[in-house]
Amino acid sequence: MQQLDALAREAVALAGGGVPLSAAEAEVGRQLQVCNACRYCEGFCAVFPAMTRRLEFGKADIHYLANLCHNCGACLHACQYAPPHEFAVNVPQAMAVVRVQTYTEFAWPSALGALYRRNGVTLALAAGFGLALFLMLVLVLKGSLFLGPLVGNFYAVFPHNLLVGMFGAVFGFAVLALGVGASRFWRQESPGPVSGAAAVEATRDALRLKYLDGGHGEGCNDADDRFTLWRRRWHHFTFYGFLLCFAATCVATLYHYLLHQPAPYPVASLPVLLGTAGGLGLLVGPAGLLWLNLRRHPLHGDAVQRPMDRGFIALLFANSLTGLALLVWRDSGAMALLLAVHLGFVMALFLTLPYGKFAHAIYRGAALLKYAIEKRQPNRLQLGAD
Ligand code: SF4
Ligand code: SF4
Repeated sequence: MQQLDALAREAVALAGGGVPLSAAEAEVGRQLQVCNACRYCEGFCAVFPAMTRRLEFGKADIHYLANLCHNCGACLHACQYAPPHEFAVNVPQAMAVVRVQTYTEFAWPSALGALYRRNGVTLALAAGFGLALFLMLVLVLKGSLFLGPLVGNFYAVFPHNLLVGMFGAVFGFAVLALGVGASRFWRQESPGPVSGAAAVEATRDALRLKYLDGGHGEGCNDADDRFTLWRRRWHHFTFYGFLLCFAATCVATLYHYLLHQPAPYPVASLPVLLGTAGGLGLLVGPAGLLWLNLRRHPLHGDAVQRPMDRGFIALLFANSLTGLALLVWRDSGAMALLLAVHLGFVMALFLTLPYGKFAHAIYRGAALLKYAIEKRQPNRLQLGAD
């Protein structure tokens, strides 16, 4: 049996045009060979119909399927070959290990890819507190840490152009780094031309988090065999909270440059309403995700990556908490201090966006788009459900 297993691993490692696979990729390939013979989970998510279009799994296939997996846990809890069975099939875990390898391999600059493997909580919080401290020191040196009430006038503390220059540069770098990583992934996958219908379907599946419903609408598994929709809901709070905060910044920028209305804005104004709703979403969503993360079944996902997951969750939570505190006390003598702390966490979030958990949204979106393109192409095997 052990000899057969070794031969199967060797065959998988050489599959896909002879490009050597890492041990983690070979393990995904081995498990997918078992799944391809079994196919019990075909209706759970997009991974299984995509798998049935292939008889062997090369590097690009494995990267694609690993990023298409939403780590919902359904196939692990349904699997008759899951540990302690000797086949040891644990698809979500094997996929999770490869996912982080994808981020590392495609990271730009390449040397920074190693950050995905560092302790996420320490990295995120150290960056947040470090930057907040730095900004506070700047204010101390300027003698403006404790000014009188400034009726929310942030630009009396940090000049507008300084903020735009600092945050614009860091955000631009994050977008560039993520864009280069995604385009490297896309080139490896070479999915063919993007049709309008495929783009619409992929966007809809991403916005609805379709594959966190377990394929039957009752949700995914978290701590045990029971289904829950809470993982999907907490993700929605987080995702739409993030988008609302981003929208608030965009609207405020339009007010500033187009309408010549600089901040501060009244509580009932559009930027403040969007920011408050987004901040609340980003408070509730990450708190819920952390709660689920702490209770998660030990066989789900890759335990080594939990610090990265929690680091990102902690940073999002710190951003929204400090942002809402700044809104509440913006007309007090503590405003400059609160602003420095908040800006420190925002800066830390931007800096770590390309090298932390946020990357999963980009690569999964690309994998969903490939799936929407691929399913519209003829299936040469004609073996699967589609
Ligand atoms: S995860 Fe298990 S039950 Fe599902 S298709 Fe694979 S081998 Fe079959
Ligand atoms: S964990 Fe969920 S999303 Fe991933 S392959 Fe299994 S059923 Fe699909």
